[in-house]
Amino acid sequence: MNIELIAITPDPEAVIEQAARTCYQSQDREAPGSASELISKLLAMGHETPLEHAYATFRISGCSRAMSHQLVRHRLMAVSQKSQRYVTEADFDYVTPPGLSPEDRADFEADMATIGRMYAAWKARGWRNEDARFVLPNACTTELVLSANFREFRHIFTMRCSRHAQWEIRDACTRMLKQLHAHAPSVFGDVLAGLDA
Ligand SMILES: Cc1cc2nc3c(=O)[nH]c(=O)nc-3n(C[C@H](O)[C@H](O)[C@H](O)COP(=O)(O)OP(=O)(O)OC[C@H]3O[C@@H](n4cnc5c(N)ncnc54)[C@H](O)[C@@H]3O)c2cc1C
Repeated sequence: MNIELIAITPDPEAVIEQAARTCYQSQDREAPGSASELISKLLAMGHETPLEHAYATFRISGCSRAMSHQLVRHRLMAVSQKSQRYVTEADFDYVTPPGLSPEDRADFEADMATIGRMYAAWKARGWRNEDARFVLPNACTTELVLSANFREFRHIFTMRCSRHAQWEIRDACTRMLKQLHAHAPSVFGDVLAGLDA
């Protein structure tokens, strides 16, 4: 799975500070380090709407549709995903669950090869992509571009980086969290610090 941060609000913590200081008309208190201090206060008191002024966009590829189906449940996130109608899945790639024994891995790979032949057979009978895809597995890889504001990313990371989350979405969200934390440590520091604490 590849995860690439392809866009982010420039100087996101400064943008959040400007928004929040508009509420309190405290622009005169902007100073070096003031954004970090203010964002900590916002989070402590639950005033999270200023976080909605900062956005980020990621490209995720090589993840399973089992994972993407969970991710796209987050309704405040904008998603564009590779279509199985417009794009053929002949020669589809797939994600293998970790920790399989050599025997299970071999059987799993054989199953994927069988499904590949099933897909090709339905296509050979003249089925369209949109119908032939019905035989494809959840393991089939996909690609998405997704965008959300920082408040929504905090919500997603809190749910999906938890040890209760499924391993693949947990991996994806933890990697996104670390990338956003590098740009906005005051916004994401508590979430990162709280990972399975
Ligand atoms: C461990 C785990 C197990 C899960 N298991 C299942 C399962 O078995 N079956 C299943 O169907 N789903 C399951 N889910 C998915 C879950 O039910 C949610 O669909 C998903 O996590 C999105 O959460 P959300 O609605 O809080 O987030 P988002 O859609 O990202 O929304 C963010 C927040 O905005 C607010 N919001 C958004 N839309 C509305 C609205 N229409 N009305 C009111 N407030 C709104 C809420 O406060 C919400 O928390 C699971 C999730 C997790 C983390």
